[in-house]
Amino acid sequence: MIDPQWQQALFTQSAPELGNQYRDDPLLVSWLRRTLSAESLRDLEPELDELGAISGGPLYRLQLADRLNEPRLRQWDAWGNRVDELEVTSVWHEAERLTVKHGLVATGYAPAHGRHARIAQFAKVYLLHPSSDVYSCPLAMTDGAARTLIESGNQRLVERALPRLTARDPARFWTSGQWMTETTGGSDVGRSQTRAVQDGDGWRLYGRKWFTSAIASQMALTLARPEGNAPGGKGLAMFYVEVRDAEGRLNGLRVDRLKDKLGTRKVPTAELMLEGARAELVTRPFNGTRAIEPMLMVTRMWNSVCAVAAMRRGLALARSYAARREAFGQPLARQPLHVDTLAALEAETWGAFLMTFLLVELNGRHERGEIEDEQRALLRLITPLTKLVTGKQAVAVVSEVIESFGGAGYVEDTGLPALLRDAQVLPIWEGTTNVLSLDALLRSDLNAGLAALMGRASSCMRGITEPRLAAAGKQAIGALERAALWLESGQDRERLQASARRLALTLARSLQLALLCEHAQWMLDQGGDRRGYAAALRFSRLPVDLIQEMDPELDRLLMQ
Ligand SMILES: Cc1cc2nc3c(=O)[nH]c(=O)nc-3n(C[C@H](O)[C@H](O)[C@H](O)COP(=O)(O)OP(=O)(O)OC[C@H]3O[C@@H](n4cnc5c(N)ncnc54)[C@H](O)[C@@H]3O)c2cc1C
Repeated sequence: MIDPQWQQALFTQSAPELGNQYRDDPLLVSWLRRTLSAESLRDLEPELDELGAISGGPLYRLQLADRLNEPRLRQWDAWGNRVDELEVTSVWHEAERLTVKHGLVATGYAPAHGRHARIAQFAKVYLLHPSSDVYSCPLAMTDGAARTLIESGNQRLVERALPRLTARDPARFWTSGQWMTETTGGSDVGRSQTRAVQDGDGWRLYGRKWFTSAIASQMALTLARPEGNAPGGKGLAMFYVEVRDAEGRLNGLRVDRLKDKLGTRKVPTAELMLEGARAELVTRPFNGTRAIEPMLMVTRMWNSVCAVAAMRRGLALARSYAARREAFGQPLARQPLHVDTLAALEAETWGAFLMTFLLVELNGRHERGEIEDEQRALLRLITPLTKLVTGKQAVAVVSEVIESFGGAGYVEDTGLPALLRDAQVLPIWEGTTNVLSLDALLRSDLNAGLAALMGRASSCMRGITEPRLAAAGKQAIGALERAALWLESGQDRERLQASARRLALTLARSLQLALLCEHAQWMLDQGGDRRGYAAALRFSRLPVDLIQEMDPELDRLLMQ
């Protein structure tokens, strides 16, 4: 008979394990300590601890067990009626229950947390997202819709929808979609073709929405062109739509099919046909792209938080595996090159986290009206910058995480490949890297934003006493100064556009480095924890200044 222990050792690999995702995260714990009062943190911590345990425990196990389950669309009932009913997965049902219980949307609107409401909310989101099979997608749009309705000033709609979007009662909770992208364009949304026709007091919408995620939602905000309006973004208006009537019948729309996607396979993303859907105008019958901007501010913040959370999850798994897997006589965790590889990923994750939570903090201040002009300019500039840089960092980090598992990382029933597939959407939806780079750098208030960014990076240097951190901080400021000089040097529009991505990434990565130095010094001052210091120095050795002189004419040759 074969000795079972011997068999176990020879023929199995040990799977990575997750602990409490809050307690095991020195960066989140230290940043919250630095930012919140001791009293606020004491109130919040038990819930974070609970969510950390759920996310690394039962929800993660459910996610692995539910791996092959996908949402299903049932278009017809047995009697030939068009029903377009959607069945979502077990993880999504559980994620909805946890959302309502822990207020994953509601916390952001809770007066008790004051200007720290967004921090409290996103600490929870960050913990839960990686085990939720991207249930964060409908939550991002729900939060975005809540914010957009508040900023629209439409009191009737605020009273109708806000209590549902921020409900803590499962029977009342609604999620919202955003239906913008059409076949004519997601980035260039001004080309939208959906028509809005006035019908009594209300409107009816006709058109095709090409990407509508979370079609299980009860409502949506959407764009359509009132008849007679001019082409372009200004001629669009923002509308409020409820998906079904009180009897559960679809409101003048048809779900044509669910998209067959590379990743986010648990998210039901549909193609929708609007065939006279009843809709309500939210604000004025024009300038819809402007009216829906708060939605984008919010969903880009969610995207950034989910990107960092995905990196953190990948690294938690990779570290656990490195401690268990042996190669060439010792655990991977003691192989110098493996350590070097994971250290670079950690540094990326720390930088991405600090920039993202600065964005979260500024949004909280902005929404409570406790923000100065300089901080507002910084918020406007770093919203696209954070979304674009963290999306790129997430794909790069998670891709390397997959490799750190060797062949196991490529095998579906480890659950690992989904990490990479799901990360790949982060740079695409809510604005691609290029579109956001242009958005950041061609805006009219760029100068105010740049000055504010420079101001924030310089403020990071104020309390630094550790010489190597001071040198790393200087490197960050130097890269920012070079970017500013480059922008001032009167580049023609073609060169400016062609360089926008490199410039945007340079601004973002310089700010990350400065924030890393600031946090590292704080950690040292608090008792000598050197992990922040290690992250800052490691980040300073990664590419920060990406500005290069390129020749657009030569590049055009490569397109032929
Ligand atoms: C899984 C998934 C779910 C989605 N869910 C939703 C949803 O719920 N609601 C919704 O409204 N949309 C949704 N979308 C759509 C998404 O927001 C768009 O796909 C995205 O905004 C890009 O638009 P596009 O597909 O039209 O690409 P395009 O705009 O055609 O872009 C193609 C490429 O061109 C580049 N590009 C475009 N313009 C420029 C420029 N001026 N200069 C340089 N490069 C440029 C882009 O960066 C990109 O690389 C979803 C998409 C995905 C993948």
